[in-house]
Amino acid sequence: MATFSVRFLGCKVSHVDAHAVRERLLADGHVERDGAADVAVVNTCCVTHEAVSKSRKEVARAARTHRRVYVTGCGANLAADAFAGLPDNVVVVAKRSEETPAFVAGDVGAIGCVHSDARLDRVRAFVKVQDGCSFACSFCVIPLVRGPSRSRPAASVLAEIRRRVAQGHREIVLTGINLGCYRDREAGYDLPRLVREAGATPGLERLRLSSIEINHVSDALVAALRETPTVGRHLHVPLQSGDDAVLRAMGRRYTVATYLRRLAPLQEELNLTSDVIVGFPTEDERAFENTLRTVREAGLTKIHVFPYSPRPGTVTAGEDAVPPQVKRERAARLRAASHEACLARWRTKVGRDDVVLVDRPGRGYGDDYSPWLVDPSAPVGELLRVRGAAVSEEGILAA
Ligand code: SF4
Repeated sequence: MATFSVRFLGCKVSHVDAHAVRERLLADGHVERDGAADVAVVNTCCVTHEAVSKSRKEVARAARTHRRVYVTGCGANLAADAFAGLPDNVVVVAKRSEETPAFVAGDVGAIGCVHSDARLDRVRAFVKVQDGCSFACSFCVIPLVRGPSRSRPAASVLAEIRRRVAQGHREIVLTGINLGCYRDREAGYDLPRLVREAGATPGLERLRLSSIEINHVSDALVAALRETPTVGRHLHVPLQSGDDAVLRAMGRRYTVATYLRRLAPLQEELNLTSDVIVGFPTEDERAFENTLRTVREAGLTKIHVFPYSPRPGTVTAGEDAVPPQVKRERAARLRAASHEACLARWRTKVGRDDVVLVDRPGRGYGDDYSPWLVDPSAPVGELLRVRGAAVSEEGILAA
C-alpha cells in the first residue's frame, strides 16, 4: 500500500484527468494523503508559458516531500525538457489522458482490487465527454499535447452522471476540450441529444456545459438548452479576439459578425461569458478597440483574459510582437470592462430570487453562474433558494 497525493493545474479537463488517476489509485488500495506521502501526481498545464512555469514549481515542491513524483497531463506531453533538471525522483509521463491512470497505477504497483467509488473533491462534478481537438488555431498547443478530437460513448457518460448523482453531486458540468465536437456515431448521439438525456438524469438538479465554440452554437443545441429544465442559464463561448483580421491570423473559424449574430438571441435569457487573448502578434490598438466593442455588443460579462504567449510547435511559436507592458495594459482594460459588465448583471438580481449551489462556506453560484454571498452556515453542497439584497465587488449579497 502506498500513500499518495494528486494535484492539478489548468482547466476543468485537467481536473477530471487528475481525478481519474486518483480514482484508479484508490481502487488499487492506495491511501490518499494531504502533504508528504510516498507518491505525488501533478497533472500539469501548458496553455501559456506561465502555466508551464507554475507546473514546474509544483513538481519541484512535490519532489521535496514525496519519494516519487509523476508529471502527467498537457505539460508532460509538451517538450520533455520543460521538466528537465528536476530531481531523479521525478517521472515525466508523456501519455494520452486515457492511458495515464493505468500507467501510473502500474508503476506504483497494485496490491489487490478494492472497490472505490471516489467522490469528486468538488461540489459540482465535471464529467469529461470529449478530449483532444482537430481544429488548428495558430496560437494553440492543445492539439499537439492532447491529439485529435475523440468522444466517450454516450452510455458511459450517462452511467457516470448517474453515479455522480448517486454520490451526492447536485450539479454536473459536461466537460471537454472542444465540447461541440462530441459525437457517438455508433449510438447516434451528438451534443444536443446528450444534453437532453444527461439533463433528464433522475436526481440531477443542474446541468452545465464547460465551454462551447461559437461554431457549435447551433439551433439544435440552443433548443436543447432551452427545453431541458435542469440546464443552467449560462454559456461560456470563447471569442479570443473581436477583430476579423486578428481572428483570421489566429486561424479561428468565424467572423465577429457570426459571433454576434449567433449570440444575439441568447443575450436576454443567458449569462454569456468568454475567453479573450490580448496582445496577439497582429493585434494593434485599433484591433484591441474592436475587441472591447465586440465584448460590449455581445453582452458578455465575465471575461477570462489571457495575455498572449508563444507556444512551442504552434504556427505563431516564433512571433511575439506586442510588448509585455502593452499586454498588461490591455489585459487590465479588458478586465475592468468585464468587471463593470458583471456588476451591471449582478445589480439586476437585487430584489429577485435565485437558487444557489453552495460550493464553499458562505459562497456559491446561481442558476446563471453569477457569484453569490450567502449565509455562512448554509451547508456546502446544498441548493439554497435566495433573494438578492445588494451587490458587492465579489458578488450578489443574499437577503
Ligand atoms: S479550438 Fe482552437 S483554441 Fe480551442 S483547443 Fe482547439 S485549437 Fe485550441
